[in-house]
Amino acid sequence: MKRLLPKTLVDKAKTDLRDVFISRIIKNTDEKGCWHLKSADGSKLVDFLCHFRERGTKKIFFKAKRFSFEYFNGDLAENFVVYSSCDDKYCINPDHHYTSTSKDYLKKLVQEGKLKYRSGFKHSPETIIKMSKTHSGKKPSEQTRLKMRYAKLGIKRDPELVARVAEQYFRGEKNACAKLTEKQVLEIRSLKNIISSHELEKRYPVTHSHIRSIWGRNCWKHLAH
Ligand SMILES: [Zn+2]
Repeated sequence: MKRLLPKTLVDKAKTDLRDVFISRIIKNTDEKGCWHLKSADGSKLVDFLCHFRERGTKKIFFKAKRFSFEYFNGDLAENFVVYSSCDDKYCINPDHHYTSTSKDYLKKLVQEGKLKYRSGFKHSPETIIKMSKTHSGKKPSEQTRLKMRYAKLGIKRDPELVARVAEQYFRGEKNACAKLTEKQVLEIRSLKNIISSHELEKRYPVTHSHIRSIWGRNCWKHLAH
């Protein structure tokens, strides 16, 4: 996972919050022995801790469960997640929690029969028609397109790498939707101010507006000359 904040900052925030955390715990609230965390003004229960820095403009949020678990049992590695074994949403008692990687957790859920993978599942024909109707004419957002690229390339959560690979495989001639070759584009460029775009439209399998955008360097930008 890419870390957004440097580790030193997060560690400093954690040590700063320790006293606040201890002062706000309410222990043994019910028969099960759950612990709760008060908000800063003590009016309600919260499941997070917030650290302010730089005059309160920048905040770091911590999950109360994980903070409590790390406070009493030592720091966890990043790929470990804290899961609750009691039903209380606000519980922060470290004895009611355990830690595991998310992969192991999913395995455990499948073994217990709480989670089923629907392999080979298909929607009914009516639902497929309904879905295609709702999606027709809509453009996917930039984020969705990025996700589709991730899926296509088999890469997760590294936009820089995706951009680099996409540059290599999805630009110019290599793109599946490309109608022109690089040679033709250079030809079109050399004919600027000699033949009109409406004339060129008849020679190449593209529209006159596309030819003008080639001249204006709005597309095929990666080609030099
Ligand atoms: Zn509990």
